[in-house]
Amino acid sequence: MTYENSLEFARQLDEKDPLRSYRDQFHIPQKNGQDCIYFTGNSLGLQPKTTRNYINEELDGWSTLGVEGHFHSNSRPWFHYHKFSKESLARLVGALPSEVVSMNNLTSNLHLMMVSFYRPEGKRYKIMMESGAFPSDQYAVESQIKFHGYPYEDALIEIAPREGEHTLRTEDILQAIEEHSHELALVLFGGVQYFTGQLFDIRAITTAANNAGALAGFDLAHAIGNVPLDLHNDEVDFAVWCSYKYLNSGPGGVSGIFVHEKHGNNDKIPRFAGWWGHNEEERFKMEKGFMPMRGADGWQLSNVNVLASAAHLASLEIFDKAGIVTLREKSNQLTGYLQFLLGSLPENRLEIITPAMAEERGCQLSLLIHEHGREVFNLLTERGVVADWREPHIPGKGGIIRVAPVPLYNTFAEVYRFYEILKAGLE
Ligand SMILES: *Cc1c(COP(=O)(O)O)cnc(C)c1O
Repeated sequence: MTYENSLEFARQLDEKDPLRSYRDQFHIPQKNGQDCIYFTGNSLGLQPKTTRNYINEELDGWSTLGVEGHFHSNSRPWFHYHKFSKESLARLVGALPSEVVSMNNLTSNLHLMMVSFYRPEGKRYKIMMESGAFPSDQYAVESQIKFHGYPYEDALIEIAPREGEHTLRTEDILQAIEEHSHELALVLFGGVQYFTGQLFDIRAITTAANNAGALAGFDLAHAIGNVPLDLHNDEVDFAVWCSYKYLNSGPGGVSGIFVHEKHGNNDKIPRFAGWWGHNEEERFKMEKGFMPMRGADGWQLSNVNVLASAAHLASLEIFDKAGIVTLREKSNQLTGYLQFLLGSLPENRLEIITPAMAEERGCQLSLLIHEHGREVFNLLTERGVVADWREPHIPGKGGIIRVAPVPLYNTFAEVYRFYEILKAGLE
C-alpha cells in the first residue's frame, strides 16, 4: 500500500476499515475530556464494554445459587468453565482444543511447563533463550536451573544480536542451536520479543531445536491476539501466554498453556499435579492416585478462577467475531502507516529498532530516542498519548518508547496524531 502524510488520508483509511466498528466496543481512557491515544495494548489491553456483563452473570449465579453454581449456574456451570475458552484459544494459537487450556498466571504456568519439559540429563542440561528476555522468564529459568542443581551461567545460553544490531537474525539462532546441539535440553523463546517487538520464526526455531534433540517452548505473552499462530502444525512442544495484554482480559487475567498432543496424551510425563488435572469422571470421588486428564487439561491444578475467566470469555468473543487474520491485515497497515510517518522524522533523533518487515514483527514499534528521550516521552503523556518508557541500557544513551497501535480499537487518525505530537516533541 502507498501511504500519504496527511490527516485527511488517515481518515480515509479509517472510513474504509472493515473493523472500524470494534473501537466502540471498548472503554477508551480519557484525558482532559478527550480519548487518550492508547498505544499500550501490549501491556494492558482495554476493557470491552461486555466484560462487566460477563462478570455480573457469574456474580448473580454466585449470589442466587451459592455452591450449586458449580453445576447449575444459569449459563456456564463453573465445573466446566475452563472448557468455554478452548475453541477460541485454539483458533488464536493454531491448536486443537484439547491442546490448550486457560489456567493460573503466566509465570506459574511457565514453571509448570518447565517441570514437565525441562528434563536435564547427562550432558544435555542447557537452556537457550534470547538475551534480554522478559525478567520474569529470566528468573523462572534461573530458578529452574538452580533447582536442578546446575550452575546458572553455565547452563544458560543467551543469544544476542550482532554488534550494532538490535534484533536477532533467524540464521544466527538456528546456527547457535546446531552448535550446542549436544548439550541443549530446551530452547525457550518469546513469540514476539517484548522489548524489540521482533516476531521470531517459531517454526524454524522449533524444527532446529527438535532436530538437535531438544524441546522447544514459547512465551506468547506478546504474540497471542497480536499475530496469527500455528503451534500445532509448527510442532511446538509447549507454550504459555497471558490474557491481559492483546487479549484484553483484565489486569492479572487468567493465563493459558499449549501442550502439543505428541506430549499431551502421554501420562508418563512428570508433572506437578492437582485435582483439576485429575480425570474429571473421578474427581469428586476424592480418591488416591492421580490420573491425568488427556491433553493440556491434565496440567491443571486448581478449580477455575471464574470471575477472571468470565472477563476472558467476554474478550475472546470479540476476537472470534473479528477474526485474527482480519485483525492482522489491519494491524500490518496500521503499524505500516506509523512506520511510514516516522520515516519522515530526522534519523539522528529517532531509530525504530523493531524489524522493518511486517512478517518479522507484530503491531508494536520500539522507538529509540537518542537524546532527551524522557522529555519527549513526558510531552507525549501530557498530550494524551499512553505509551511505555524504558530507561536506556547505557545511561545517557537514549531510551526506548514502545508504542502498539492495536487493530481492535486504534485508528489511523490516532497514528497520525501521535506522529504529529512526536514530531513536535522532537523539535
Ligand atoms: C507480560 C509478560 C510476563 C508477565 O508475567 P505474569 O506472570 O503474567 O506476571 C511474563 N513474560 C513475558 C514475556 C511477558 O511479556
